[in-house]
Amino acid sequence: MIIHLDELSGKIQAFTFEKRTKDFPVLQEISMAGDCIFTDPLDIRLGAKRIGEMVAVEGRAMATVRMTCNRCLSEFESVLRAGFTLTYTRRLPEDLETGDDEDMELQAEKIGLIPFSGEEINLLEDVQSEIVMAIPMRPICSENCRGLCPQCGSNRNEVACRCESRSVDPRLAVLKGLKIDDQ
Ligand SMILES: [Zn+2]
Ligand SMILES: [Zn+2]
Repeated sequence: MIIHLDELSGKIQAFTFEKRTKDFPVLQEISMAGDCIFTDPLDIRLGAKRIGEMVAVEGRAMATVRMTCNRCLSEFESVLRAGFTLTYTRRLPEDLETGDDEDMELQAEKIGLIPFSGEEINLLEDVQSEIVMAIPMRPICSENCRGLCPQCGSNRNEVACRCESRSVDPRLAVLKGLKIDDQ
Protein backbone atom coordinates (compact mmCIF):
# COMPACT_ATOMS: atom_id res chain seq x y z
CA MET A 1 0.00 0.00 0.00
CA ILE A 2 2.46 2.56 -1.26
CA ILE A 3 1.97 6.18 -2.23
CA HIS A 4 4.64 7.80 -4.39
CA LEU A 5 5.27 11.43 -3.69
CA ASP A 6 5.37 12.33 -7.37
CA GLU A 7 1.73 11.22 -7.68
CA LEU A 8 0.72 13.85 -5.17
CA SER A 9 -0.05 17.53 -5.41
CA GLY A 10 -1.73 20.15 -3.28
CA LYS A 11 -5.08 18.76 -4.36
CA ILE A 12 -6.52 15.62 -2.80
CA GLN A 13 -5.73 12.55 -4.84
CA ALA A 14 -7.94 9.48 -4.40
CA PHE A 15 -6.53 5.97 -3.94
CA THR A 16 -8.31 2.64 -3.66
CA PHE A 17 -6.64 -0.52 -2.45
CA GLU A 18 -8.10 -3.98 -2.34
CA LYS A 19 -6.05 -5.99 0.09
CA ARG A 20 -6.11 -9.47 1.54
CA THR A 21 -5.88 -10.45 5.18
CA LYS A 22 -2.53 -12.09 4.55
CA ASP A 23 -1.12 -8.72 3.47
CA PHE A 24 -1.47 -7.59 7.09
CA PRO A 25 0.60 -9.77 9.45
CA VAL A 26 -1.21 -8.59 12.59
CA LEU A 27 -4.71 -9.05 11.12
CA GLN A 28 -3.65 -12.48 9.95
CA GLU A 29 -2.56 -13.32 13.49
CA ILE A 30 -5.84 -12.03 14.97
CA SER A 31 -7.78 -14.11 12.44
CA MET A 32 -5.80 -17.21 13.34
CA ALA A 33 -6.55 -16.66 17.02
CA GLY A 34 -10.24 -16.86 16.07
CA ASP A 35 -11.65 -13.91 18.03
CA CYS A 36 -12.09 -11.73 14.98
CA ILE A 37 -11.81 -13.48 11.63
CA PHE A 38 -11.23 -11.20 8.64
CA THR A 39 -12.83 -12.02 5.31
CA ASP A 40 -11.14 -11.02 2.06
CA PRO A 41 -11.00 -8.57 0.47
CA LEU A 42 -10.39 -5.55 2.68
CA ASP A 43 -11.46 -2.35 1.02
CA ILE A 44 -9.32 0.70 1.67
CA ARG A 45 -10.10 4.10 0.21
CA LEU A 46 -8.19 7.25 0.91
CA GLY A 47 -7.39 10.70 -0.21
CA ALA A 48 -3.87 12.12 0.04
CA LYS A 49 -2.31 15.46 -0.63
CA ARG A 50 1.08 16.99 -0.27
CA ILE A 51 1.78 20.12 1.71
CA GLY A 52 5.47 20.88 1.31
CA GLU A 53 7.38 18.09 3.05
CA MET A 54 4.20 16.79 4.65
CA VAL A 55 1.62 14.37 3.31
CA ALA A 56 -1.89 14.38 4.70
CA VAL A 57 -3.89 11.17 4.32
CA GLU A 58 -7.53 10.74 5.19
CA GLY A 59 -9.39 7.54 4.57
CA ARG A 60 -11.28 4.53 5.75
CA ALA A 61 -10.87 0.78 5.73
CA MET A 62 -13.77 -1.65 5.53
CA ALA A 63 -13.69 -5.35 6.20
CA THR A 64 -16.20 -8.09 6.84
CA VAL A 65 -15.34 -9.95 10.01
CA ARG A 66 -16.72 -12.89 11.96
CA MET A 67 -16.78 -12.43 15.71
CA THR A 68 -18.29 -14.11 18.75
CA CYS A 69 -21.03 -12.24 20.58
CA ASN A 70 -20.08 -11.32 24.12
CA ARG A 71 -23.64 -11.84 25.36
CA CYS A 72 -25.05 -14.89 23.55
CA LEU A 73 -21.76 -16.50 22.44
CA SER A 74 -22.97 -17.03 18.87
CA GLU A 75 -20.76 -16.29 15.92
CA PHE A 76 -21.92 -13.42 13.76
CA GLU A 77 -20.77 -11.47 10.75
CA SER A 78 -20.25 -7.74 10.88
CA VAL A 79 -18.70 -4.98 8.81
CA LEU A 80 -15.79 -3.30 10.51
CA ARG A 81 -15.21 0.32 9.58
CA ALA A 82 -12.09 2.24 10.49
CA GLY A 83 -11.80 5.92 9.66
CA PHE A 84 -8.40 7.52 9.96
CA THR A 85 -6.32 10.63 9.42
CA LEU A 86 -2.57 10.22 9.11
CA THR A 87 -0.05 12.99 8.66
CA TYR A 88 3.43 12.14 7.45
CA THR A 89 6.43 14.38 7.52
CA ARG A 90 9.58 13.86 5.53
CA ARG A 91 12.96 13.63 7.16
CA LEU A 92 15.06 16.16 5.36
CA PRO A 93 18.58 15.20 4.28
CA GLU A 94 20.04 17.74 6.74
CA ASP A 95 18.19 16.01 9.63
CA LEU A 96 19.76 12.72 8.63
CA GLU A 97 23.23 14.30 8.41
CA THR A 98 23.17 15.94 11.81
CA GLY A 99 22.44 12.55 13.33
CA ASP A 100 19.44 13.99 15.11
CA ASP A 101 17.35 11.31 13.54
CA GLU A 102 15.95 9.96 16.77
CA ASP A 103 15.36 13.41 18.12
CA MET A 104 13.41 14.45 15.04
CA GLU A 105 11.37 11.26 15.18
CA LEU A 106 10.46 11.90 18.82
CA GLN A 107 9.53 15.52 18.13
CA ALA A 108 7.38 14.51 15.17
CA GLU A 109 5.55 11.81 17.12
CA LYS A 110 4.82 14.21 19.93
CA ILE A 111 2.71 16.35 17.65
CA GLY A 112 1.11 13.39 15.91
CA LEU A 113 3.23 13.30 12.78
CA ILE A 114 4.65 10.14 11.28
CA PRO A 115 8.17 10.52 9.91
CA PHE A 116 9.12 9.01 6.56
CA SER A 117 12.10 9.30 4.26
CA GLY A 118 12.61 8.99 0.54
CA GLU A 119 10.08 9.35 -2.25
CA GLU A 120 7.35 7.01 -1.10
CA ILE A 121 5.21 6.21 1.91
CA ASN A 122 4.17 2.71 2.84
CA LEU A 123 0.82 3.02 4.59
CA LEU A 124 0.42 -0.64 5.44
CA GLU A 125 1.47 -0.63 9.09
CA ASP A 126 -0.40 2.54 9.99
CA VAL A 127 -3.61 1.44 8.28
CA GLN A 128 -3.25 -1.96 9.95
CA SER A 129 -3.06 -0.28 13.38
CA GLU A 130 -6.19 1.73 12.60
CA ILE A 131 -8.07 -1.45 11.69
CA VAL A 132 -6.89 -3.20 14.87
CA MET A 133 -8.12 -0.24 16.94
CA ALA A 134 -11.54 -0.50 15.29
CA ILE A 135 -12.06 -4.08 16.55
CA PRO A 136 -14.59 -3.90 19.40
CA MET A 137 -13.39 -5.12 22.80
CA ARG A 138 -16.77 -6.67 23.60
CA PRO A 139 -18.51 -7.41 20.32
CA ILE A 140 -22.27 -7.97 20.41
CA CYS A 141 -24.34 -9.50 17.60
CA SER A 142 -26.99 -6.81 18.00
CA GLU A 143 -27.87 -3.99 20.39
CA ASN A 144 -30.99 -6.02 21.21
CA CYS A 145 -29.16 -9.26 21.92
CA ARG A 146 -30.83 -10.86 24.94
CA GLY A 147 -27.87 -13.06 25.81
CA LEU A 148 -27.91 -16.39 27.57
CA CYS A 149 -30.27 -17.29 30.37
CA PRO A 150 -28.16 -17.25 33.56
CA GLN A 151 -30.16 -20.20 34.90
CA CYS A 152 -30.60 -22.71 32.07
CA GLY A 153 -27.99 -21.32 29.67
CA SER A 154 -30.26 -21.24 26.64
CA ASN A 155 -29.89 -18.50 24.04
CA ARG A 156 -32.73 -16.09 24.79
CA ASN A 157 -32.68 -14.78 21.23
CA GLU A 158 -33.72 -18.22 20.01
CA VAL A 159 -35.83 -19.79 22.75
CA ALA A 160 -38.15 -18.43 25.38
CA CYS A 161 -37.25 -20.46 28.43
CA ARG A 162 -39.48 -20.26 31.50
CA CYS A 163 -36.77 -19.43 34.03
CA GLU A 164 -37.74 -15.76 34.29
CA SER A 165 -41.33 -16.42 35.34
CA ARG A 166 -40.28 -18.63 38.25
CA SER A 167 -37.10 -16.79 39.14
CA VAL A 168 -37.68 -16.47 42.89
CA ASP A 169 -34.46 -16.15 44.84
CA PRO A 170 -33.98 -19.64 46.35
CA ARG A 171 -32.65 -18.08 49.59
CA LEU A 172 -35.91 -16.16 50.06
CA ALA A 173 -37.92 -19.28 49.39
CA VAL A 174 -36.05 -21.06 52.18
CA LEU A 175 -36.71 -18.20 54.64
CA LYS A 176 -40.41 -18.24 53.82
CA GLY A 177 -40.52 -21.94 54.54
CA LEU A 178 -38.75 -21.46 57.92
CA LYS A 179 -41.21 -18.82 59.06
CA ILE A 180 -44.13 -21.04 58.42
CA ASP A 181 -42.47 -23.86 60.40
CA ASP A 182 -41.95 -21.55 63.41
CA GLN A 183 -45.56 -20.74 63.83
ZN1 LIG B 1 -25.65 -11.96 20.83
ZN1 LIG C 1 -33.64 -20.23 31.18
